[in-house]
Amino acid sequence: MPLRPGVRTWRRFGRPECHGIEAELAVHGTAHCPRCGNPLAARSQTRLRALLPTGAQGQDLDCRGCRRFHARVLHTAGSRYLLRLRRLAAAVLRA
Ligand SMILES: [Zn+2]
Repeated sequence: MPLRPGVRTWRRFGRPECHGIEAELAVHGTAHCPRCGNPLAARSQTRLRALLPTGAQGQDLDCRGCRRFHARVLHTAGSRYLLRLRRLAAAVLRA
């Protein structure tokens, strides 16, 4: 694949990294990038909003250096229910 400078996509942090970020947020209220140590910058909306069920709110914490983000999603009772239905539907389709 040819390398296109300036066109770099944002990727999510890995699962263990997300746990580390959440743990740091719980203790300090702020978080740093697990890869480079820079402070993470908050975005008001998450890049995953198109994937979230109605009612759920999200926020991204970005590391500009690594082009990685951590999505924090706040669910409501309704959006949690929709998420469970969606998982159930996916499980049924797989069966
Ligand atoms: Zn970083």
